[in-house]
This record gives sequence, structure tokens and C-alpha cells, in this order.
Amino acid sequence: MCSDQAKKQIFENYPAGVVVAANLLSAIIYILGAAIILQINLWAMLLYLAFCLSLEFKLMATGCVHCYYFGRLCFSGKGVVSSWFFKPGDPKKFTAREISWLALLPDMLVVFVPVAIGIFFMFWEFKGSMLMLVVGLLIVAFPGQGFIRGALACCYCRQRELGCPAEKLFKKS
Ligand code: SF4
Repeated sequence: MCSDQAKKQIFENYPAGVVVAANLLSAIIYILGAAIILQINLWAMLLYLAFCLSLEFKLMATGCVHCYYFGRLCFSGKGVVSSWFFKPGDPKKFTAREISWLALLPDMLVVFVPVAIGIFFMFWEFKGSMLMLVVGLLIVAFPGQGFIRGALACCYCRQRELGCPAEKLFKKS
């Protein structure tokens, strides 16, 4: 839920601190996930990181290009980065997109796959270090990202005012 002050204050470009915090959190998720998957082998870890990178590019190619923040500093900075690689899209397509939890499944796999692998390894041979990696990943991915979206990103977003299917989905849950 956005505070009244947040509803009034919309960022045309987000403060650098928000962008740094959002990217730091994403980087921590990828690093913790990669550290868990490294227990299989280096190739599995590289495959995991390539999958994460492909999701970032897919989001920029299919979402950010149509967003109000294309070419601007959104909370994640991808509005600017996507403008380095892609041409501007159609803003109508952003609001017309249907987003469901099923469509978000690939993004959730970034967390669920390493968590499942970590739990499997702990059944095999319990290690406190693995438990810390799994718990740390869950905390950063859920309360951590929830805080970034809920307190720092969506409430100050012009695209939310224009219409954002993802924000509507998060609000319903
Ligand atoms: S409302 Fe939230 S999810 Fe939607 S574009 Fe803005 S920051 Fe992203």
C-alpha cells in the first residue's frame, strides 16, 4: 500500500540510491543462487547465470521497450539500459499485456531452482553453510524484493498511474 505522500511524488527519474539498492538486491539473489548451484559443478552454475542474464534481456526486449521509463532511470535502471540495445516500443502494448503468476514462472525459477537444489544437498549431507545460503536467498528474494517494490519502486512510478499489469497482479496477492 502506498502512502499518500508517495502517491503524490512520482519520479521521472528515480534517485540513484533506489537504483543501486534494487540492483544490489538482484545481484545478491544471483550470487546466492549461483553459490548454491556451484555445489553441482561450474557448468551448472554458468548455465544458471546465463539463464538469469537471458531473463534480464527478455524483460528489456518485451517489457521495458514499451514502458514509460524507456530511456529514463526507472527503479531498476533497465529503462536506460534497454534503450542502449533496443528501439522504443509501443506504450499501449505495456498496459495491454496480460501478466499471470504462470507467466512469471521463469523468473521464480531463478529462486526456486537453487532453493530446491540446496534442500536436496542438505538431505544428502547437512551443512550449516548451505542452510545459510538457502535461507539468505529466500529472505532477499521475498521480503527483500517485496520491500524494494512496495516501498521504493511501484508507489513512485509513473507507469503505475498509466497502467501496469504486473503491479495489479502484485496488489491482488
Ligand atoms: S508499477 Fe512497479 S512493476 Fe509496474 S512498471 Fe512501475 S515499478 Fe515496474
